[in-house]
Amino acid sequence: MKVLKFGGTSVGSVESLTQVKKIVETIPGNAVIVVSALGGLTDKLIATAKLAAAGNAVWKPEFESMKQRHLHIINTMVPLTLRDNVISEVCTLFSQLQRIYEGLYLIKALPEKILDETVSFGERCSSWIVAAIIKNGIRHDSLKFIKTEKWYGKNVVEGKITSHLIAQEFNNLQENEKAIVPGFISSDYKTGEITNLGRGGSDFTGALIAAALGAETLEIWTDVDGFMTSDPRIVKNARITPHLTFSESMELCSFGAKVIYPPTIFPVFHKNIPIKILNTFNPEAPGTLITDVSFPDDPPIKGVTALNDLSLIKIRFLDPLLKESILIRTFKILSENAYKIIPVSNSDSDDELHFVVNASDSALSLKMLNTEFAPEIGQGLTENPVAESNVSALALVGNEMKERYNLLSRVLYSLQRKGITVKAVGSPTSNTTLLFILDERQVKDALNLTHSLLY
Ligand code: ASP
Ligand code: MG
Repeated sequence: MKVLKFGGTSVGSVESLTQVKKIVETIPGNAVIVVSALGGLTDKLIATAKLAAAGNAVWKPEFESMKQRHLHIINTMVPLTLRDNVISEVCTLFSQLQRIYEGLYLIKALPEKILDETVSFGERCSSWIVAAIIKNGIRHDSLKFIKTEKWYGKNVVEGKITSHLIAQEFNNLQENEKAIVPGFISSDYKTGEITNLGRGGSDFTGALIAAALGAETLEIWTDVDGFMTSDPRIVKNARITPHLTFSESMELCSFGAKVIYPPTIFPVFHKNIPIKILNTFNPEAPGTLITDVSFPDDPPIKGVTALNDLSLIKIRFLDPLLKESILIRTFKILSENAYKIIPVSNSDSDDELHFVVNASDSALSLKMLNTEFAPEIGQGLTENPVAESNVSALALVGNEMKERYNLLSRVLYSLQRKGITVKAVGSPTSNTTLLFILDERQVKDALNLTHSLLY
C-alpha cells in the first residue's frame, strides 16, 4: 500500500483539488491520503488568533472569510448526496473555532495550548472536504492515533503507542478505500489535549503512517518538481535532483531546502521505505526519489543550501587543557535543554570553541553557558561566551564529503576571492555535509558562486 501526502497548495483551491482527485482515483486498491490545511490557512488561523487576543475586532471578518473559503469549495466540488453532511461537519468545527476566538478576544491573551487547538482546525476541516470529493474516500481522525508526549516543554511523538494505534486504525480498510487523514495534528497521550507535530508536520504524519503500516512508498505531493541543486528563487540555473539518499535529503532539509519537514525522514528511513517527491501540478514529472543507498550515476554533490537565522557562539579559553571539558559541558547543557548545536571551527580554534545555534536560542544559550562556566570565568581561565548574530550556514551536501578536501579549499578560495568572509567551517553529524558559516548578507552571492563552481 502507498501513503500519499498532499500539501496546502495541493488542497488550496478547486483547481488543485481537481488534480488531487485525478491523481488519487487512479490508484488501484487501498491507499492512505494525508492532507494539509487549505494553503495559507494555518498562517491565517494564527494571525486571526493574535488579532483576537490583541482585542482587535477584525478577527471577525477574517474568521468569516476562512469559513466562506471552505464553503465555496464544498459547494463547488462535493457531490450533492454528501454535501449537507460535509457542510454540517465543517460548520460545527467553525462554531467551535468561533467560540475560541471569542474567548481570546475576551481574555486578551493567547495561551500556547489554545493556539495549538486553534491551528488544528485547518486540517480537521480540509480532511472532511477531501474525503467527500474522492471516490471511496473515508475520513480517519488522526487525533485518535497520532499521540504526543511532553519532552522539555515540547510535544514529541510517542512512537510506540502511535504506531500501535495506526496499525489498529488502518488494519481493516474497506475494498478500494482511500483513507483520508488530517496531517499535522495530534493529541497528548496522557491528557488528550490537542497538540501538533510542528509547522510543516503533515509530511511527518505521512511518514509515521507509512512506517507503522510498512507501506511500499511514501509519496509527498507538493508544488515543485522535486529537490533541486539549490533554491531556484536565488540560483537561476538550479536544476532537479532525480535521486538522493535518506541522509542527503535529511541534510538538505535540515540546512534550508524547504521540500520536506526534516523529522519526516527518520521513521521511513528505519523501515527503508522509499520517499518520492512529486508535483501535483505536473504529475508526469519524474520528481525526486529518496532511497537508502547512492545510485552509480548519481553526481557526487547533490545540492547547495543555506540556513539563515543562526548565531555563532564563541567561548575563549586561556588554558588549552580546558578545551575538551568545555566542549563536553557545552554539548551536555545545551542538548539537555533540547537546543540544536552545531560545532564549527576556524583558525582561532586553538584557544576558542565555536558553534552555531538557532538565533532564537542564542540569548538563553549564553545565559546557561555563563552559569555553567562561572567558576572558570571567575578564575580568569575562560572568557564570557559571546554570540555573533545574523549568521548563516551554507551547506554542501553529497556523498563522502569528508574525503573531498580539495573541494573545501576550492570553495573557500573562490568565496574569499569574491570578498565573502568564511567565519568558520564544519561538517556536522555525518559524512554528508560541509558547512561554511557566513554573514547573512553574503549568502545569496555565496550560493550563486558555489553553485556555478559545482555545476
Ligand atoms: N498546515 C500545517 C502548516 O502549515 C502543516 C502542514 O501543512 O504540513 O504548517
Ligand atoms: Mg510542507
